[in-house]
Amino acid sequence: MALRIPEAKDVTRKKVLVRVDFNVPIKDGMVMDDTRIKAHLETLRFLKENGSFITLISHLGRPKEGRDPEFSLKPVAEYLSSLTGWKVNFVPDCIGEAVEEAVALQLQDEILVLENVRFYKEETKNDPSFAEKLAKPFEVFVMDAFSAAHRAHASTRGVADYLKSFAGFLIKKEIESLSVVRDNPTHPYVLILGGAKVSDKIGVIENLLPKVDHILIGGGMAYTFLKAKGHGIGKSLCEEDKIEYANELISLSQDKGVKIHLPLDCVVAPEAKADVSTIVIDTETSIPDDMMGLDIGPKTIKAFCEVIKEAKTIFWNGPMGVFELEPFRSGTEKMAIAVADVAKKGGYAVVGGGDTAAAVNMFGLSDQMTHVSTGGGASLEFMEGKMLPGIEPLLD
Ligand code: ADP
Ligand code: MG
Repeated sequence: MALRIPEAKDVTRKKVLVRVDFNVPIKDGMVMDDTRIKAHLETLRFLKENGSFITLISHLGRPKEGRDPEFSLKPVAEYLSSLTGWKVNFVPDCIGEAVEEAVALQLQDEILVLENVRFYKEETKNDPSFAEKLAKPFEVFVMDAFSAAHRAHASTRGVADYLKSFAGFLIKKEIESLSVVRDNPTHPYVLILGGAKVSDKIGVIENLLPKVDHILIGGGMAYTFLKAKGHGIGKSLCEEDKIEYANELISLSQDKGVKIHLPLDCVVAPEAKADVSTIVIDTETSIPDDMMGLDIGPKTIKAFCEVIKEAKTIFWNGPMGVFELEPFRSGTEKMAIAVADVAKKGGYAVVGGGDTAAAVNMFGLSDQMTHVSTGGGASLEFMEGKMLPGIEPLLD
């Protein structure tokens, strides 16, 4: 996939509109997590070093009707300034005179942050005349919001029809890393899947099945597979309408020589609560009717770690249990440690999915992975083999 990456000549002294993802958690006007902001700094430094006039555009949350101050990007503009020491000015609109004036008067060392693009309903409709208005004050578009690239919105896709467009360095890193695990893995390749639902992961499974050697299945989705194999799963998460699919997948993977590993034991409790008492049950023995499986057990952890240890390539999406609650965290944490070990030894270990990335972050292991994708839905759609609408205009 040949992305168009900007060179100095493309951006020097140019008025550059950069689509970032500044959709960060904000509480009482304070940015609570700056991971997404920091992810764009490489692109912003490149543009600054090459003398661009930089303007940033982003969405924040899902404002329902027009300008809701709760969803203003002003606190993010202020945060960016304090994080970097750069001169950052907030513009209280994203189209029209206010923006045109600010861009016309912009100093080279000044970064403009526009107001939440979702204050206009035309944004999510990818309205062409709105996209044209977004583009109007600028000469170049740099798309860097990988996590929004699966959406064909005016600021992620439409605006590229009106400006010379390039991929930013975050998008470059995301596409390069995810392409390795999607298209060019070194074997053995271990796919680790967990999280809540089988239905969310079918696209990824189907696209990767011809490439992988092992699939480890944990999390809530494992119970649909266990039920398909005839195990009693109590009141664990189960998608009845996916049981047949689970059986088909098990036999298809046998034909293809892919080994599917299901939990051997699990941590069960009457409900997903922080202060419940838990027990470990072998999956061969039925889970009692009033109990649910909420994490993989120690035997499973050991078996999964054995497989992970041999891997040269890993893609991991979906926590092994309800890691948000301490009693059900261990499976996900032990997997994270094992996956990070593979990366440390030179293997290629990529983590995708919003909750999985949050878990790895919680364990302080993000830096030790080869790559932790910033794109939740976008990374999954990419792994499914789909062309992302925000990426398409950036290809040569
Ligand atoms: P990602 O965002 O990484 O793609 P998902 O959204 O698919 O991951 O799944 C994450 C959620 O799955 C977490 O909130 C976690 O609590 C939940 N989960 C994991 N295991 C179980 C389980 N056994 N039962 C119920 N929910 C689970
Ligand atoms: Mg999720």
